[in-house]
Amino acid sequence: MKKENCIFCKIANGEIPSRTIYEDETFRVILDLNPATRGHALILPKEHADSLYDLPENTAAAVLPLAKKLASIMSRKLGCDGLNLIQNNGETAGQTVPHFHLHMIPRYGNDGQKISWTPGKPTEKELDEVREQLAE
Ligand code: AMP
Ligand code: ZN
Repeated sequence: MKKENCIFCKIANGEIPSRTIYEDETFRVILDLNPATRGHALILPKEHADSLYDLPENTAAAVLPLAKKLASIMSRKLGCDGLNLIQNNGETAGQTVPHFHLHMIPRYGNDGQKISWTPGKPTEKELDEVREQLAE
């Protein structure tokens, strides 16, 4: 299903032009318009899902194999030294376009980008508590 007024639905389904680097039945992969680094790409499913939470299982299962394939292509063709995969879910997590997308950000030795968080210093007790809360 497509969602009305969703820009990534329109891009993924070719209604709005994009710089496409890969396309198949399920996905379109485009260059990000405001790239963090040279070659920053977005994997977009053609079917709408707001985020990881409502992404169909079969689409979820196909995303990482595609990312892996593109990772090799980026390494070979761009000569990047590394790669970050980033996937934001929800505004709080920094998602600005509510259509699932996986960022592929090639990294270069001198690219000046820093993708990071401040490491926490929980107590052993806090770690034990959260493990208990999460463990299935
Ligand atoms: P996020 O913050 O994870 O939702 O990422 C949204 C990304 O989409 C940002 O990196 C934007 O630069 C990118 N973006 C937004 N609109 C477009 C567009 N029309 N074409 C390509 N990239 C876009
Ligand atoms: Zn959409």
